[in-house]
Amino acid sequence: MSVNQQAHTGPPYGQPQPGYQGYQQPAYGGQPLPGVPQSQYGAYNGPMPGYQQPVPPQGYFPSLGFPSKGSPVSLNSDASSLAPNFIGSLRAPPTSGAPPPASGASLPSSHLAYSQFGHGDVQNGIPASAAPMQRPPASQPFLPGSAPTPVSQTSTFQQYGPPPASVQQLSNHMAGMTIGSTTASAPPPAGLGYGPPTSIPPVSGSFSATGSGLYTPYTASQGPPPTSVSQGLPLAQPPFPGQPISTQRLPTQVPGFAPPPSSTGIGPSSYPPTAGAPRPPTMPGPPLPGQTVAGPPTSQPNHVSSPPPPSAMSGPHPGPPMSGLHGPPPPTHPPQPGYQMQQNGSFGQVRGPQPNYGGAYPGTPNYGSQPGQPPPPKRLDPDSIPSPIQVIEDDRSNRGSEPFATGVRGQVPPLVTTNFLVKDQGNASPRYIRCTSYNIPCTSDMAKQSQVPLAAVIKPLATLPPEETLPYLVDHGESGPVRCNRCKAYMCPFMQFIEGGRRFQCCFCSCVTEVPPHYFQHLDHTGKRVDFCDRPELSLGSYEFLATVDYCKNNKFPSPPAFIFMIDVSYNAVKSGLVRLICEELKSLLDYLPREGNMEESAIRVGFVTYNKVLHFYNVKSSLAQPQMMVVSDVADMFVPLLDGFLVNVNESRTVIASLLDQIPEMFADTRETETVFAPVIQAGLEALKAAECAGKLFIFHTSLPIAEAPGKLKNRDDKKLINTDKEKTLFQPQTNFYSNLAKDCVAQGCCVDLFLFPNQYLDVATLGVVTYQTGGSIYKYAYFQLEIDQDRFLNDLRRDVQKEVGFDAVMRVRTSTGIRATDFFGAFYMSNTTDVEMAGLDCDKTITVEFKHDDKLSEDSGALLQCALLYTSCAGQRRLRIHNLSLNCCTQLADLYRNCETDTLINYLAKYAYRGVLGSPVKTVRDALINQCAQILACYRKNCANPSSAGQLILPECMKLLPVYLNCVLKSDVLQPGLEVTTDDRAYIRQLVTSMDVAETNVFFYPRLLPLTKADVDSDSLPAAIRNSEERLSKGDMYLLENGLNIFVWVGVNVQQGLIQNLFGVSSFSQISNASSTLPVLENPFSKKVRSIVDMLQMQRSRYMKLIIVKQEDKLEMLFKHFLVEDKSLSGGASYVDFLCHMHKEIRQLLS
Ligand SMILES: [Zn+2]
Repeated sequence: MSVNQQAHTGPPYGQPQPGYQGYQQPAYGGQPLPGVPQSQYGAYNGPMPGYQQPVPPQGYFPSLGFPSKGSPVSLNSDASSLAPNFIGSLRAPPTSGAPPPASGASLPSSHLAYSQFGHGDVQNGIPASAAPMQRPPASQPFLPGSAPTPVSQTSTFQQYGPPPASVQQLSNHMAGMTIGSTTASAPPPAGLGYGPPTSIPPVSGSFSATGSGLYTPYTASQGPPPTSVSQGLPLAQPPFPGQPISTQRLPTQVPGFAPPPSSTGIGPSSYPPTAGAPRPPTMPGPPLPGQTVAGPPTSQPNHVSSPPPPSAMSGPHPGPPMSGLHGPPPPTHPPQPGYQMQQNGSFGQVRGPQPNYGGAYPGTPNYGSQPGQPPPPKRLDPDSIPSPIQVIEDDRSNRGSEPFATGVRGQVPPLVTTNFLVKDQGNASPRYIRCTSYNIPCTSDMAKQSQVPLAAVIKPLATLPPEETLPYLVDHGESGPVRCNRCKAYMCPFMQFIEGGRRFQCCFCSCVTEVPPHYFQHLDHTGKRVDFCDRPELSLGSYEFLATVDYCKNNKFPSPPAFIFMIDVSYNAVKSGLVRLICEELKSLLDYLPREGNMEESAIRVGFVTYNKVLHFYNVKSSLAQPQMMVVSDVADMFVPLLDGFLVNVNESRTVIASLLDQIPEMFADTRETETVFAPVIQAGLEALKAAECAGKLFIFHTSLPIAEAPGKLKNRDDKKLINTDKEKTLFQPQTNFYSNLAKDCVAQGCCVDLFLFPNQYLDVATLGVVTYQTGGSIYKYAYFQLEIDQDRFLNDLRRDVQKEVGFDAVMRVRTSTGIRATDFFGAFYMSNTTDVEMAGLDCDKTITVEFKHDDKLSEDSGALLQCALLYTSCAGQRRLRIHNLSLNCCTQLADLYRNCETDTLINYLAKYAYRGVLGSPVKTVRDALINQCAQILACYRKNCANPSSAGQLILPECMKLLPVYLNCVLKSDVLQPGLEVTTDDRAYIRQLVTSMDVAETNVFFYPRLLPLTKADVDSDSLPAAIRNSEERLSKGDMYLLENGLNIFVWVGVNVQQGLIQNLFGVSSFSQISNASSTLPVLENPFSKKVRSIVDMLQMQRSRYMKLIIVKQEDKLEMLFKHFLVEDKSLSGGASYVDFLCHMHKEIRQLLS
């Protein structure tokens, strides 16, 4: 039945669209749409040229590693004949309004600009220099030494301000961070940030890390020359003698390297005098009435976080008031008019000392009560404690210029915030795998003692910059990849060939396996195969194998996947303009489906469903003049009423699809249906994929809590009163198991679910997201969607989501060498056993964090090995294995562990661990456990690696000196300590997002990037140097940009020059700036161009399009902005960095005593 009888006026299907003639898509994912920022990285270039589809193998032993999963599709092919029995009322053509003339899929002329992309600036596959190399049969030309030479970073790369001065460079080589303070050893009644603010002048110089010149073992062999630079601390005093412990990262690890000798110790007498500091410290706490704030002028009196009346400081933290236990009670101050009862009164919780702060954490009963020492009244100078900005800058200047070659075992890569190129020399790039430590304790006792989690953050399909070479695809023909007979590990550079090359010994399990005759090669005098450098699997850390039919479900090569677009057409969706927007966008977006290599068109088929309380399926078969609609109103037992014509090739059915997308908004324009179903929608997509015997992805655009009578129906159970109770965890749990079971079915079919949510109220993300989460899908949420404000963000997200590289029906297994094994997994996936991570879909942004535990001793000689094998179906339906190998060092000395840690990765793991913990434990318990673990990590270092005599000092390992500040950011994040404005759905949403984030994403999410816009150099491509996330760093005469991967704030100080306001906002005064806009106006002046280019650059670097929010100083929205100034005390009770550092110090000292 035809939906619309009008003859279509679009172009005949199959013909190129205007503006697209001759356009070649070089690779999938590589072609940007208008408004889509081109990715920081180049296009995915697909498989290697010359790839040959293998002949189906014979006689190959089925893989034990990847048992085929799922059951054969049971729908028989003429199930469609049953359909009429189930079809509900067929809809008549809409009577309201004639459909718009079919516009085909014609596109604006701006699309023409595309032809400039894709060819010139993308390096495909093999470097030219590989050409002369001898090519082994059945494998790609390959030359390890021929990796593209590092080139200057493109302008899309992050660039920060001026290079650090030599002092900063040196500091990276410096020894353990030391917060030495006499006060720390004897907390005063006022405490270090935990007591009330006092008017006693603070002491500076309480923190210092001096040069490591006294640490001779390093300077003799690998260390930097002695230096007396004192970590940027402007101390007039000479550096403390010998207190730092050298913890610099070494380019190579010396096995058994001993920890620093304790003779380099420091005595208590070595503290600097408290007087004579050259500079008064910045007051980290709120000023008292009448006090002035030291440091840069931050704002008008009313703007500075004003101290609350201590009597109002009863935050959400339970626990006894500190005053009873920890010295004298805080002085009370009269309430300040104007500061109370803003947002339920918690405004009183400002940065700085909190009388009840200690109550939030366990183990502080003695705080402030050590007898015998005078209470030195002081506070830490924020400038003297480890600065994330400094660490980032140092790493960037020290490690950003040289490519990171992966040939050395256990080498710690540059930070994620540093731009660097990677040369694969046998270990996987850090873009694919990052570890919490690159030197693993040899024994489990040692690992337990340190409490440092051993984990790897793996992003198997990570996008690479265009300068780097994509993994080569190795085709071993019908015999498939060579594997160890016992553990089934795949051939890799660490396998040892023996007996003249006739056998190889497995580097994972030591089992000896015959080399298959076709794979035999002679060994050279060093025992290496003479062809090793011609074979990616013998010389590279990352590569792909073409999988044989044994790696396929039901021993059958897969069909290309399908995308099904499922659009909510209930009242809200139609009214907001969303339905029309989606349909308009799809008309052009369908031309950009992922395609592989040199394929002319995408192999992906598409289908369309609309729904409210019932589902509407569309037949868009190319032979039809008009699309046909079939309605299924019986949603209790979902089925697909049509098979033929539901999933189609875009080019073949172009006209019918265009017609359909034109008609959908009209058909439902007058709908009054407000209720929706949800589970039946997923079931419908699942059934359609089952019937088509393929994997695929559902794109569901959904607006409301599914309350209509149907399976998976939900009720509104939101209850913010549960926060801080034992039942808070239920807010994160799904309200029914129905969706978990559905997810299991989806995974079995390779049905990945991406969810775009547009809620105007609670819609239970915790439950709706279950299927998305467990199938490896993505969730996007646009609360209170408004077309004008949110459409850019939504469309950019949708375009990227549709175009990005994705694998289907994926199974990942991580093998390890004897002694450790993968024990725990975090991410968006499903596991039906303890080893295989199953994902219906896995895209280039998804990360899986894997934790390892010892099951035996490791040896320093052999180190430890990881091999991540991902079996997946490419977007063209090719079955492949992507292999990543990584070798790590092992140590018998704790100091070696601490020298080779990666704090950003550690935080990624800890955040995911905690975010999972809230499903089963009270949030406070989770927070306490995090603090406790980190205190143990640092206490173990303090006890075993640092000088035992400097008892009153906080000594942090160089590689972990940011652990406290970052940990504090995790603790006060919305999941673990929600702000007032944060909804239950927000928390569930963030919890799911973080669980799939890579290290770069968690880094900026927890510690946002803050850039002074008014300091930007309009003549250069670089970004202004970032500053620390504290209100004290803001000047009211400047403008700042803050980004965290989800939001971009542009903060405007009240005293910003009128000219700048005019240039950026196009209005003449501060008061005229509108914060209703989500974009900056396009103005033709250098400052406007510069700021917009910065925003565009940041948008390109992130996997999601960030929401831009303009915040005026002292405006209501500023509350929201301040929430992200993570070094400050938060309104929801989160500690300031200074306070938290002191608290950690206290915890550590308790563990040590
Ligand atoms: Zn083995």
